[in-house]
Amino acid sequence: MLSKARANIISRFIYLYRHEKMLKQEVFAAELGISRASLSLVEDGKRLPSLDLMLKLSDHSGVCVCSLLGRPCSHLHHVSFHEPVSQQEIVSAAEELLAIAGKRLIL
Ligand SMILES: [Zn+2]
Repeated sequence: MLSKARANIISRFIYLYRHEKMLKQEVFAAELGISRASLSLVEDGKRLPSLDLMLKLSDHSGVCVCSLLGRPCSHLHHVSFHEPVSQQEIVSAAEELLAIAGKRLIL
């Protein structure tokens, strides 16, 4: 089971990424192939993201699944983080993921 803290990072990343792309929940959910209600639950941290959603999020953002999960990897852009213990660490990790997504958009 994905830890609550890691799930919180992914939730925060989805929120930041969606706003940076200026996508309404309805639009982003459609692009991910999920319902707006499902996206809302994950974004609000009320439901853990499914493995399928993790893959779709990775495809959409260009951030590898390993990085979304905070695991070291050999991909071009990656981030790894230890199990976050504070809200600040969760926010920082989510912002780092967003920075990777931004680089991918520029490349
Ligand atoms: Zn990776």
